[in-house]
Amino acid sequence: MLGNASYDEGMARKSKTDRLPRLVRPPAGREPGILAIAGRKGPEFYAFREIPCAIGGRGFKVQRLGRPDLYHVRIGRPDQCSCECLGFLRHGKCKHIAALLST
Ligand SMILES: [Zn+2]
Repeated sequence: MLGNASYDEGMARKSKTDRLPRLVRPPAGREPGILAIAGRKGPEFYAFREIPCAIGGRGFKVQRLGRPDLYHVRIGRPDQCSCECLGFLRHGKCKHIAALLST
């Protein structure tokens, strides 16, 4: 039993030091991929799915797990990147684009 406890602690420490953003699971067939993105209070997990994009770059639907927030994100060259979140509207960049670009 003691062995199990220390094993769990080791896992928790390891996940804390993981670099974010991180691809938790790549998309597979109809299953969306999962991304971990650094949030204010720790990792935030997002499901993402590629969608057709006719205007250049690649389009994705990105939804935070357990939340209703759904964003359409486009990545590609710097001038092709866009997102629907407040961060992008205010600053012209956001963590969703950065995370998708890093996968
Ligand atoms: Zn965004």
